[in-house]
Amino acid sequence: MLENEYLGKLILIVGPSGSGKGTVIKELQKKYSGFVFPVSYTTRDPREGEEDGVVYYFISREKFKKMIKNDEFLEYAIVHSNNYYGTSKAHILDPLKSGSVVVREVDIQGFHSIQKLVPDENLVSIFMSVSGEDDLKGRILRRGALSDDELKRRMDSAKKEIAQSGDCDYQVENEWGKIKECVSHVEKIILAEINDLY
Ligand code: 5GP
Repeated sequence: MLENEYLGKLILIVGPSGSGKGTVIKELQKKYSGFVFPVSYTTRDPREGEEDGVVYYFISREKFKKMIKNDEFLEYAIVHSNNYYGTSKAHILDPLKSGSVVVREVDIQGFHSIQKLVPDENLVSIFMSVSGEDDLKGRILRRGALSDDELKRRMDSAKKEIAQSGDCDYQVENEWGKIKECVSHVEKIILAEINDLY
């Protein structure tokens, strides 16, 4: 068997749209400047206030397909049945090789792809869930106006993701109004998991 070339840990935050993954990651970013937070690529349009190069690079389908051809993605997926999302190989694997803690949100398809590529000992998956369907719908709608079609697509993906939540190493519930507790739960998991790196 090949020797494991990775020294760090990749923490994947998984969970349906609106479950608070972005908020949790933002809080971790404020506190852990030594962690690496890679920027993914997507073909979806930016939402109001979203800046290019912070959470995503917003690119065209043509550019995305070119990157697929050039084998630049560690994984990519069509999410909510319409847009491409993908993590860059270099942005994830290079810091992982040099021993960094890398934190990224992906959908459940992305998690399953990465699971086949990164050894178990270097991978930690945390699934964030919410209290129920109504709660989820409210959170998705609160992020901005959506067409009925888009809302349905997001709710359908959410149901599929929740059904596979048990595939992740940890499940964390983000109860409405308790984001602080949720962040500290995720933080505790990460700190316990990376303890052996230091
Ligand atoms: P949103 O459009 O709400 O920002 O994200 C939609 C979904 O795509 C979320 O579940 C989010 O976690 C997921 N996602 C974000 N970046 C990536 C990525 O690089 N790869 C994959 N597979 N999913 C991603």
